Amino acid sequence: MGGSSAKHFDKTPRIWHEVPEVGVEQSHCKPCKGTGKRYIYPEWVSGLDADCGYCNGSGKVWDKKSIEVGGALFFNSHLFLLKNLPGVEIGVFHPTDVARFRFDGGDGLSTSLPRQ
Ligand SMILES: [Zn+2]
Repeated sequence: MGGSSAKHFDKTPRIWHEVPEVGVEQSHCKPCKGTGKRYIYPEWVSGLDADCGYCNGSGKVWDKKSIEVGGALFFNSHLFLLKNLPGVEIGVFHPTDVARFRFDGGDGLSTSLPRQ
């Protein structure tokens, strides 16, 4: 009872999942042909030595893939970054909700992808 079912925000995941090993799957940035130099900039910045706006000047882009962790989907690039954290684990409340991650030294929130 008690009227409105209080929507509490104590989002503590019950299960923590190990972050899977994700390979670096990058390919040449097509728009700038892997040069990392200006692509998505209009002509008026062409005088500048601008970085490609598509790959941020790296010349490489991630082959975006979604990977499932605990029923939720995450970008491979995102998991790759998380994997750098020591002892990192992902906690999922709901497949379409924001996920939580924790590691030795802190924690944070992580955005999962909508399922198709
Ligand atoms: Zn590029």
